[in-house]
Amino acid sequence: MTIYQATMPPDGATCETRGCCSVASVRLIVPALRFDADGVDHSKDPPTFDTCELHWPVMRDACRRNGHAVADSTGDLRALVADFPQCTIFASDGGRLYASARVNGSVQGTTVDAFLVGQLRIRLTQLTRTAVGSASGARR
Ligand SMILES: [Zn+2]
Repeated sequence: MTIYQATMPPDGATCETRGCCSVASVRLIVPALRFDADGVDHSKDPPTFDTCELHWPVMRDACRRNGHAVADSTGDLRALVADFPQCTIFASDGGRLYASARVNGSVQGTTVDAFLVGQLRIRLTQLTRTAVGSASGARR
């Protein structure tokens, strides 16, 4: 089994799925394959593949169906939970992460979501920071 790392793409990266030019939200880092018994020259495989919000779940699914694990290299979910005790943090079956928070006594909780722990951490940090002045936080 190969482990693919999921990380944040650089600013301005776009989805590499054919026909899609949306802003990329996840970069998949494909490990160099040492296995060559399939007769395919993997040396020219692109080492990374950027996908948008729409195509990432498809890509993640395809990796898993092919027996590859997808690891989030942007952070540890348990550490995030520990850092934001005021939030309820959970992951969907599709691999999307959600955090819902009640900040500064607001009546309505705000939910932010992301595909990567690092992205969720950024959104939560912004949320807890902007909540002081305005209640409209959680922009995507
Ligand atoms: Zn796309």
